[in-house]
Amino acid sequence: TEAQLRQSQKMEAVGRLAGGVAHDFNNLLTVIRGYSELILTRLAPTDPMHREMEEVKKAADRAAGLTGQLLAFSRRQFVSAKVVDLNAVIMNMDGMLRRLLGEDIIELCADLDQQLGSIKADPGQIEQVIMNLAVNARDAMPTGGRLTIETRNVTIGKGPRRETMVLEEGSYVLLAVRDTGHGMNEETQSHLFEPFFTTKEKGKGTGLGLSTVYGIVKQSGGTIGVESKQGRGTTFKIFFPRVDEAAQRADVGTGAAGHARG
Ligand code: ADP
Repeated sequence: TEAQLRQSQKMEAVGRLAGGVAHDFNNLLTVIRGYSELILTRLAPTDPMHREMEEVKKAADRAAGLTGQLLAFSRRQFVSAKVVDLNAVIMNMDGMLRRLLGEDIIELCADLDQQLGSIKADPGQIEQVIMNLAVNARDAMPTGGRLTIETRNVTIGKGPRRETMVLEEGSYVLLAVRDTGHGMNEETQSHLFEPFFTTKEKGKGTGLGLSTVYGIVKQSGGTIGVESKQGRGTTFKIFFPRVDEAAQRADVGTGAAGHARG
């Protein structure tokens, strides 16, 4: 639709701008980090300035982390794409997710489709996507709740569609991350994927989590959407093009090669 096209053009422009700024900042930060390290080696650990210099170095390191995330958002090419078993990635993260979510949030990875097709992506990046979505889900459920991770094969054909998102005909692997948190209003939903957009209090959010997710999903040729109801919860849905043979057989005759637009 026109609105979606406008949104994707906007994200592209934001991505280019963010990428340029991040790149220049990274160069400057390299200088700051390098010199603060050098100064630290020249200061006696008992010198009161040693502690202060350490703070400078720590802040510069953190800034470098942020610009790294921004670069990931704006980069277009694959980092190291390979055929990935999404279920395996999710199951590997189980321990980490449990620690992240704490005792009050039940984490359910039970809805993993055992016949799930393959996707082509960078497994490390897919982990980052799931981590970022899980962190947001946790923050939306301060008094506890339920996080569900679901995977499923989805084929979009010519007929009526169950999915509300606009997808080209073809075979997809769906990754859905659902929480029972506070949800979000329309205004928040419309800015969600923009870098530095956050509703979290100062120091808690960077506003880079979802823009990073968006960048990674795009790099994998996928499409992301969100469904949210205030007071009820939020579901993020990511459709990756399916790359295995079964998907190619299913696509014969439809003319769709399993590529998502978005
Ligand atoms: P950050 O988490 O640093 O604020 P994000 O880009 O990850 O940055 O998220 C942007 C904003 O989107 C959040 O501040 C929050 O308002 C909203 N948001 C993201 N995920 C959820 C969720 N699962 N439930 C409710 N709101 C969410």
